[in-house]
Amino acid sequence: MLYNRYLKNKKECPFCSLKKEEIIRKNNSAFLILAQAPYTKDHLLAIPKRHVTKLNKLTKKEKEDVEKLIYYGIKRLHKKYDDASMIYREGRKEKIGKSIDHMHYHLIPKIRITTEKNIRNRKMLSDKEYLRKTKDFKKRFK
Ligand SMILES: [Zn+2]
Repeated sequence: MLYNRYLKNKKECPFCSLKKEEIIRKNNSAFLILAQAPYTKDHLLAIPKRHVTKLNKLTKKEKEDVEKLIYYGIKRLHKKYDDASMIYREGRKEKIGKSIDHMHYHLIPKIRITTEKNIRNRKMLSDKEYLRKTKDFKKRFK
């Protein structure tokens, strides 16, 4: 499934309905998960637990907790990759569909972004494949 189609059909916020087995690491107010529509292999997302649309709406504690998972995630990626990038995303309505309005950070190893069109049309993993990759990531990045 393409990410664009997934977003069109999704009614509820995917980050507010995460299953336990999808979570790589968590603390009091944030989660670290694998991206289900990855730009690259081992693409991670750091997400506040609370549905927050913009960075400035986070509490001080939430900012600290999200930041801890960003550092944790980048450190894990550095075990296997010599570079990583981070992209901050917040929700916005867009002409070609909606984005997820629950703010989040992408932690991405070895990325070379080509065009916005390529990112939007990236392949969506099936739930089964996604959970298998999450399990595999946890094992490889202990
Ligand atoms: Zn949400």
